[in-house]
Amino acid sequence: MTGSGTENAPGSRGVGDSSSPTIDNPSARPDGSLNDNADDSHGLIIISPSFPAADDSDLVLSSIDNVVFYVKSAIVEKASSAARMSFSKLAAGPHPYDKDLVVVSIPERAPVLMLILQALEGKISLEDPIPECDDLIEAIDALPKYDLEPRTVVRPGTAIYIYLLSHAPTRPLDIFALAAHHKLDSIAVEASKSLLDYPVESIEDEIAIRIGSHYLNRLFSLHRMRLEGMSWLMLKPPMFHGVPQANFLSRTPQVSNGCGEGGRRNLQNAWALGAAPIARDTRPDLNEDRVRKTFQPLALDLDCVVCRSSFMVRIQEVVEGWAAVRDTI
Ligand SMILES: [Zn+2]
Repeated sequence: MTGSGTENAPGSRGVGDSSSPTIDNPSARPDGSLNDNADDSHGLIIISPSFPAADDSDLVLSSIDNVVFYVKSAIVEKASSAARMSFSKLAAGPHPYDKDLVVVSIPERAPVLMLILQALEGKISLEDPIPECDDLIEAIDALPKYDLEPRTVVRPGTAIYIYLLSHAPTRPLDIFALAAHHKLDSIAVEASKSLLDYPVESIEDEIAIRIGSHYLNRLFSLHRMRLEGMSWLMLKPPMFHGVPQANFLSRTPQVSNGCGEGGRRNLQNAWALGAAPIARDTRPDLNEDRVRKTFQPLALDLDCVVCRSSFMVRIQEVVEGWAAVRDTI
């Protein structure tokens, strides 16, 4: 049975009517999922605690695990008039406890359907438990099926947006791929920061296809740019102590003062000793502590206080330069 049901789902008898049968079911968790011992084998339904029957709810949806949601169709239509039509085209059947009602079957798990509806209604609160990452991904991936545009649902500042970002540090590739696939640009940008330690060359084909060439290229470019950035920083040695003065009348360089040519070699050698392992092992997520711990012991080997100071200044310049290298796509 398709189509017809939802238009008159509550019929002349609103679902919020006090005489409407609702089931106070203790087996529903607040997140909309079912307890492990929930028994749906006998056609029992569970009413989502987050979407109970109300006077103005005129759309009844059921998840594949038999959790029922009472919704205001106006909320769905406000998000997308096409979405309301999409729901109405899905299979529908009679409400098991109220023959005047029609329940539309939505092919999603309860936690996923709940997230979709909460996002549409703006009911997700940051005070709620953080939704599971997989549920969030599944919910956002499902939106286009119902003619809902992820970019209009997952807007900066909304709770679902913030929850997605909260998973980026632990699930960076999944969040990046989701954001890239749906062109949620600011989320992709934020997630890319958590991918600096990810071996991008090992991204599997399936994920790469989901990410798409545009965002994949941006991610690879970010990693390449950071590697080149550190190599560039390593190239410049500390300023040496005692600058040879150019004397065009003499073939012998004139050293004004300080450690002169010998000091310059010492500084350059010390710098090269530190730069070699940094350059060899540079990663896009190289930590500034690694830079300091590599170079600072080498400064102690310099006898001249001025040369040592110059060396330390250069270390700080590198650290600051590295911090200034872009760390997002
Ligand atoms: Zn010196």
